[in-house]
Amino acid sequence: MIIFKTAEELSQYIENQNLQIHFVPTMGALHEGHISLIHRAKQAGQTTLCSIFVNPTQFNNENDLKHYPRTIEADIQLLIENECDILYLPSVEDIYPNGMQYETGVDLSIHANLLEGFHRPGHFDGVVQVVDRFLQIIRPKAIYLGEKDLQQVQVISELIKQKYQDIDIVPCPTLRESDGLAKSSRNQRLTAEQRKIAPLIYQNLKEITEAKSISTFEIAKKNAITKLEKNGFRIEYITLINAENWDVLEDFSDTKMAVLIAAYLGEIRLIDNILF
Ligand code: AMP
Repeated sequence: MIIFKTAEELSQYIENQNLQIHFVPTMGALHEGHISLIHRAKQAGQTTLCSIFVNPTQFNNENDLKHYPRTIEADIQLLIENECDILYLPSVEDIYPNGMQYETGVDLSIHANLLEGFHRPGHFDGVVQVVDRFLQIIRPKAIYLGEKDLQQVQVISELIKQKYQDIDIVPCPTLRESDGLAKSSRNQRLTAEQRKIAPLIYQNLKEITEAKSISTFEIAKKNAITKLEKNGFRIEYITLINAENWDVLEDFSDTKMAVLIAAYLGEIRLIDNILF
């Protein structure tokens, strides 16, 4: 695996070698969820590039940024074992050479004020900034994104639709622990006790989807809130959307839907969703 630390060297290499890049952006602290994206990208049979960059502009909470896990040596080892071809490991200055007030001109329409956009003000602006910059440097053939961050997939689709129509976006399914908890770098920060109850998030999402033919969303949501709060979760949202257009739904319908949740266990904010 070749490691690049600057945009200039990386983009020159890609251009000189005329590479077709299949790109997996990450913030590191890699786990099997990230690696499943690498494996999916490798299926293209071209060049797989992973980036590790903890992007300061997408953190709306200083504390979260400060405590974000960083395990770079182990990450590099894992990427080598999984035959990733290129790792891009930039500095903040390399990504934002002209300062962090970087304008992308992308209209995020509803997403700026919906779910993650509402509860983490500025978060998606930061995501779009960093991905926009990556796409300019790397010019990949395709970008691979986890459905674990479903709204992020939608926001990056908007960026690609508005500025990079020749890049393919490949959504990849959420990888879970055997008890259902979605794999996440933030899980490392849960105490043993919190880790034991964390799978209740997925269990309750599943129960909501199973209520589709027998109950209403309102009742199913109320039951989930009761159970989660009883176990010490602080819920930010449990929301049902039409997965085609992201309209918020009051009740189940026949369209493709997703139910999404964000909830805190202590200081740790966990998100998950099910498409159904
Ligand atoms: P992050 O490092 O958290 O920014 O995640 C980098 C990429 O990995 C994003 O596209 C995530 O959606 C994806 N990802 C994170 N966790 C999982 C998971 N459990 N299963 C599949 N993809 C994931």
